[in-house]
Amino acid sequence: MTEIGLWVYPWDLLDGGIEPVVARLGDLGINSLSVTTLYHNGRFLLPKRQRSPSYPTAPGVSYAPLRPDLYEAGWMPEPDPAAIDADLFPRIRAAASSRGIQLRAWTIAFHDQPRPGDHVVDALGDIHPFALCPTSAENRRYLQALVGDLSSRGWYDAIDLESYGYHGYRHGSHHERDGLLLGNLELFLLSLCFCRACTAAAEGRNVDAGSVQASVEGFVRRRMQHDGPGEGASGLWQLTSYLVNHPDVYAYLRSALANTARVLSDVRDATAAPRLILGITAATFLQPSAAAWQEGLALTPDLWTLVDRLVLLAYFRDPKDVYDDLWFVLDSTGHHPERVVLGQSLMPAESPDLANVLAKVRLARDLGIDKISLYNYGFLTEERVRWLAAISKSFG
Ligand SMILES: [Zn+2]
Repeated sequence: MTEIGLWVYPWDLLDGGIEPVVARLGDLGINSLSVTTLYHNGRFLLPKRQRSPSYPTAPGVSYAPLRPDLYEAGWMPEPDPAAIDADLFPRIRAAASSRGIQLRAWTIAFHDQPRPGDHVVDALGDIHPFALCPTSAENRRYLQALVGDLSSRGWYDAIDLESYGYHGYRHGSHHERDGLLLGNLELFLLSLCFCRACTAAAEGRNVDAGSVQASVEGFVRRRMQHDGPGEGASGLWQLTSYLVNHPDVYAYLRSALANTARVLSDVRDATAAPRLILGITAATFLQPSAAAWQEGLALTPDLWTLVDRLVLLAYFRDPKDVYDDLWFVLDSTGHHPERVVLGQSLMPAESPDLANVLAKVRLARDLGIDKISLYNYGFLTEERVRWLAAISKSFG
């Protein structure tokens, strides 16, 4: 079945009314809703809200009820009282089911979560407080408990899992400054994690983590003495040259990819009974899917032994860039368009007009992709909410 999905925040359902919003979205042709179960820090301007349209989120609180006995002491996310009091997820499930709409649990794993676990530590020894390290056994046990908890509820058809890998140096809390013109090489090197778990995992794979860390640190410190090192955001030659010429760093990167694969394997086991569809986002930070390896995700046919679906956040304005992203993923992962979901942002910066969106979703359909997911109800003006009817008609 063609799937026309929409990401929705819980606070927008509470504000607009669960049943009326779900009914309206169903009338507009949406047949799959992905609703946030827990989220990260943010402040969002939500144009349809009459009262307080500027909405600050509370990072890491749970909008779905959770079972305390599944978590280690101090690890269970705090419940959001408004969502729990409103019986949010059981009511969404009921409203969605009565209209044949699927429900996905849109879940943030390791980004900006106030949990007691270890964080990413870069080559300079600095902690990234916005990123729990995916290699830490405690962090993985937490995620397994969370996904198992969500899976056992019977409300969801699928899980959309985000931020299960590494986050990268630039994925901070959004007030960061750096006075250097960092290029892709410098950002990559600052993104590698040298925490206890990552170094131990690399050593277990016969990689000399101490030597890699010293080499990366030395290179970054030398770069910081220049007044604008690197090739900037679009250059990739220095990064590829560095990786070709530093096989030990490349081996360390391969170890990071294996660490992320282990997270996904744990999560797949946690969704085993009952079996939910497990979908993951490719690259989370507005990058092409070809950058997913920097977050720890290997795009190969083996991916399908870990997950059912890959959601591409191909939030590009130019349809040509969306086309390139789709083809790269299909060619890299053994051509399974039935497993690929095209994510599209309907915000003006990425989708200037309806014709632009229609061109992009038709392009996906022509490649055999039968699932799209649109971002996101809360940010859309009334005019753009009405676009949903045309998009679902065109794609369906
Ligand atoms: Zn680590």
